[in-house]
Parts: sequence; structure tokens; C-alpha cells
Amino acid sequence: MVAGWGERKFWIAGLGWWAWLITLCVVGTGDDYMHITKRFGIVAVSQFPIHYMLSMKSAYSPLSLALNTSHEELNPYHRVLGPLEPIRRWSYRVFFTIHLIFGIIILPMLFFHTSALRIYILEAFGLFIYDIICRKLDTTTGFASITAIPNTNLVKLEIPIPATKQKRFTAAPGQHIYLSIPPESTPPNTSTLSIHNLLFNPFTIASVSATSITLVLRSLSGPTSKALKHLTTLPKAHPPISVEGPLGSTKSFPDLTSYDRILLIAGGIGATYILPLYEHLQDQMETHARSPDRVQLIWSIRSAADASWALKPEGRVPLNDDENVRIFITQHSSASEESVIPGSPTAIEMSDLKKEEVVVNARVTN
Ligand SMILES: Cc1cc2nc3c(=O)[nH]c(=O)nc-3n(C[C@H](O)[C@H](O)[C@H](O)COP(=O)(O)OP(=O)(O)OC[C@H]3O[C@@H](n4cnc5c(N)ncnc54)[C@H](O)[C@@H]3O)c2cc1C
Repeated sequence: MVAGWGERKFWIAGLGWWAWLITLCVVGTGDDYMHITKRFGIVAVSQFPIHYMLSMKSAYSPLSLALNTSHEELNPYHRVLGPLEPIRRWSYRVFFTIHLIFGIIILPMLFFHTSALRIYILEAFGLFIYDIICRKLDTTTGFASITAIPNTNLVKLEIPIPATKQKRFTAAPGQHIYLSIPPESTPPNTSTLSIHNLLFNPFTIASVSATSITLVLRSLSGPTSKALKHLTTLPKAHPPISVEGPLGSTKSFPDLTSYDRILLIAGGIGATYILPLYEHLQDQMETHARSPDRVQLIWSIRSAADASWALKPEGRVPLNDDENVRIFITQHSSASEESVIPGSPTAIEMSDLKKEEVVVNARVTN
């Protein structure tokens, strides 16, 4: 497809569905103008239930369950039916607010407009409420440890998970959660009606232990990442943080070990997704008595400090000593990067990485 226009399969599905709906709008209407206009309206509103269903985030969405998939695989089809993509690209928060308000007020407006539409409105409303209930039930709140990763704009969160959900969290690597900040943890002077009540941001589960999950996120300019960055400044505090999930389609991935060679490529914080996949594939190679060299990882990052959270995975060979991992550092060295990352158990120096370059065949390249 043309760059920026999305994938061909979504266009084919969208145009095919559009042709089907146009047919329904005109078939049997003859030359009755009023008939055809009403048909257009009814056919448009009849799409509401499927449109709402395709937007559901919950792991218990009927389509996710029926197709053994996850919301991120279904959502592109929701977007084909909706016209808000340009606003979404321009500002996610404006898009989100318009979307939510419009999605809620349009239902009663159409319900009272004409009785022929009510069945579709009730179905869509039922799905909307079902999604909210499922998402609330799948959300847990725990007292998180939140730390800033020195010399970076990265934040590391360790959030407790209930024992009942541990199996779901370990079921597949590379799953994600939706994180929201409860009122108790929002920055001081946040009003009760703050945007945080509406926000839930997706983050990949970088690692899972028996009792907690770890997230690593780049602090950007948005409200969630800013608020989390602020929480790192509170010494010894364990603010409550809510997580919904786990979600994600990696649990339905095919068995990749049947391939001769697997090359994984990560850029920056994208390693929160690729590293768990890499470790999982290495474990599978070991189980199948295959050479670990079949799975290789290339990770491109701005600075050595950006990799510090990942270099010494628990119970594994340090990433720096792993022959199948190549880390590329893209930013020019500066005085600050040369310094040791203070007090960190995963402390690394730029010079350490350079040393590796010589010793192990340019595995780390600046
Ligand atoms: C599946 C997934 C996994 C991710 N994993 C990580 C990670 O491990 N580490 C990391 O640093 N970043 C990750 N991101 C990106 C991260 O979600 C955004 O950087 C973060 O939400 C920005 O929050 P903000 O408060 O700075 O800005 P906001 O203004 O709240 O959001 C900025 C951008 O984040 C994205 N975003 C926010 N909320 C949602 C939502 N509900 N659904 C979809 N997209 C949304 C949109 O692209 C939006 O334009 C992931 C994104 C996705 C979709």
C-alpha cells in the first residue's frame, strides 16, 4: 500500500464490507426516495454492534474469544469503519475525548430518533457495558515500586500481581497491560475530575516474577508518563497503580522454533517486547535440543544507560556476554555517558561496552 495508508488486507476487508452495505442500502428500494434514505440510516446504525465489538479491549470480548486473538489485532478493522484516524494521529487525547463523548451520546440520540434503530442501539449499549464490566473485573491495584533509571528518561515499575493471575501473566512473553493511575497516586493539585480518570495507557510486560511484573517506560510529554516520572521523586513511596490484563496476541503465536533462523530486531524501548520473546525462544531452543545460535537479537539504542535495565536478566547470562545479542549504540559518546551509573546493580559504563566491541567481534557498536 501507499506509505501511511495502512495494510492492504484492511483496505480489502473495508472495501468489501462497504460494497456489501451499499448493496443492502439499495436492494429492493425501487424508485422510492424516502425508502432509500431510511435504508441508508438503518444500515449505518446496524453497524454499531460490530463496530463496538471490534473496539472492545477486554480479554473477554466475544470476538477475541471466538477468534483466539486480542484487541490489537481486531482494532484495525474497527478503524476501517471509523473516520477518526486523522484526529488520532494529530492528538491522541483529543481523539480519545471526542471518541468517548461521541460514542456515549450518540446512543440515546439514535434510540429516541426512531424505533427501527433501537435493537441495534440496545445491542451496542449492552456490549459497551459488558466491556466496561469485564475490564473493571480484570483490573487489579498494587503498591508499586517506581524508580527512575539513571542517566535516561526511562522509568521502571515493579507492580505486584495477584497469585490467581500469575498463570495468565506467564502464559506468553511480550504481553501488555493497560496502566491507570488511581486518584491517590496522581500528582499533587490534580483535580478530582482530572484526565487520569479516563486514561489507561498500554505498556509491555518486560518481565514477570512469581509475585510481580516489571514495566520499563520512556517518559514522554503526556500525562501518564509525566505523572509516573513524578512518582519516582517520592523516596520510599509505594503508590498504588492499577493494571488491567494481561492482554496481547503473542499467546496465539505459531511455534517459531520450526524456523531455521530467527532474527529479532528491537529499537529503543521496543526491547520490552523483543527481549522477553528472545528469552522465550532461547528456552524453547534448549528444550528442543537445538543450537541457541539459531535465534539472534539486534538491539539499537541511543545510549548505554538506556540498556542498563536489561543487561543482567535474573538467572540468565548477562546480555553483554551473550554471543547471540548485538547491541548498537546510536548516540555519540559524551562525558555523561562515560560515567558509571551510580549505585545501580546493573551499572554499566560506555567504556565497558566499547571493550566488548573488541573482545567479542563488534557485538556492541557505537
Ligand atoms: C501494546 C503497546 C505496548 C507498549 N509498550 C510500551 C513500553 O513497554 N514502554 C514504553 O515506554 N512505551 C510503550 N508503549 C507506548 C506507550 O503506551 C506510550 O508511550 C504511552 O502511553 C505514552 O503516555 P503519555 O502519558 O506520555 O502520553 P499520552 O498522550 O497519554 O499518549 C501518547 C501516545 O501513546 C499512545 N497511547 C496512549 N494511550 C493509549 C491507548 N489507550 N491505546 C493505544 N495507544 C495509546 C498513543 O499513540 C498516543 O498518541 C506501548 C504502546 C502499545 C500500544
